[in-house]
Amino acid sequence: MSEKTKAEQLKDHLCLNRKNGLLRVSDDCIEKAYAFCEDYKAFLNAAKTEREAVIEAVKLAESKGFVPFEEGQTYAAGEKVYFNNRGKTVAFAVIGTEPVENGLRLTAAHIDSPRLDIKPNPLYEDLELALLKTHYYGGIKKYQWTAVPLALHGVFALRDGKTVTVSLGEQADEPKFVVNDLLPHLASEQNKRTLNEGIKGEELNVLVGSRPFRDDKASELVKLNILELLFEKYGITESDFLSAELECVPAFTASDIGFDRSMIGSYGQDDRVCAYPALRAICDTENPRYTAMAVLTDKEEIGSDGNTGLNSAFLKYTVGDLCRMQGGDVTLALRRTKCLSADVNAATDPTFKDVMEAKNASYLNYGVCLTKYTGSRGKAGTSDASAEYVGYVRQLLDDAGIIWQTGELGRVDIGGGGTVAMYVANLGADVIDLGVPVLSMHAPFETTAKLDVYMCYRAMAEFCK
Ligand code: MN
Ligand code: MN
Repeated sequence: MSEKTKAEQLKDHLCLNRKNGLLRVSDDCIEKAYAFCEDYKAFLNAAKTEREAVIEAVKLAESKGFVPFEEGQTYAAGEKVYFNNRGKTVAFAVIGTEPVENGLRLTAAHIDSPRLDIKPNPLYEDLELALLKTHYYGGIKKYQWTAVPLALHGVFALRDGKTVTVSLGEQADEPKFVVNDLLPHLASEQNKRTLNEGIKGEELNVLVGSRPFRDDKASELVKLNILELLFEKYGITESDFLSAELECVPAFTASDIGFDRSMIGSYGQDDRVCAYPALRAICDTENPRYTAMAVLTDKEEIGSDGNTGLNSAFLKYTVGDLCRMQGGDVTLALRRTKCLSADVNAATDPTFKDVMEAKNASYLNYGVCLTKYTGSRGKAGTSDASAEYVGYVRQLLDDAGIIWQTGELGRVDIGGGGTVAMYVANLGADVIDLGVPVLSMHAPFETTAKLDVYMCYRAMAEFCK
């Protein structure tokens, strides 16, 4: 091989070198990434809602020695506890050798995803078909949710205090549901609508039945037949919908994408693609110096408000519980905390690359993506991580040989978005967004790259150590 020229040597030394991660890692590393993603796909299939994600996460954590935190108990360094907030948000902690007051190593990802929520009074009959009214949850392109098979997940809270859990449409032999769209032959008027209005919110009605109850007198017999079936199966009546949380999610399962199987397609990867690595990383954390915590939160997709969102006092109270156990101070702990806000970024799509600024966009297979700030309209609505903190994380990733990249969410002023980072930052902690680039974000079927998922896990495991 010929000697490098002076210019080539200088370029190596001085210029930022971006290169496909698959060309930078060993085949063994790629095998590990593929293997990790087999577990990840199983998690995606088992946990399609925030409630199911909490159940699955707790199941895994308990098998690794985590126990529910009990007020008044003292936990020693190395012990593992968790805090379950209403079955929708959960925080896992491994107690450090340093006092909790000296700060935590916190990862925060969300386990809610865009979907169609069933309205409180949803069931109606029209033209002898039974349908459910929905109110979409999170930012969706509504037209994407028509003509795809849907499953129904959630709970009914009954008047007697019992809760009935529903999961219907996931198994091959189970019925599915669907929002129907207009055929193209008759869509000339609909086609004049803007894409945003192509399907309107009140047109997202889910078809749930067509067979009438056999009777000549009563009206709305299809609806009646559905209510009878629901009573038989779940013991519920129409009024029980009023105290229910039911979510329609795509009924398909996670699968490999591509001839080379290098990618994953699934519903709900925003943000389970970060939540699962965060969960695995905290489960693998043994005897850390600083208390490590992973919080898997609800309500990010609608602004993080509410008592299961990360803009609630849940995180502060949880860290407070750990501090109080040691006679420590929660405000000191929060101010000394370092956090990775683990959320997805938009990967550059070759078909839609115009929305990106290529030098500051993220790409599939370029590794886990570090995002200094999100927001929109001149960095509004974000936490802009300090240069010093970016420097800290950068060194951590480089020293561990983790493949990573940086990326902004699109070109300046083309749109934007937010994460939980600012809520953690507002508590005084250092925080930066770190997550996996996604194609078709918020669609019923989102795409990620296996190497990036694995690098997200490795980054978090290193951070929690
Ligand atoms: Mn997200
Ligand atoms: Mn999102």
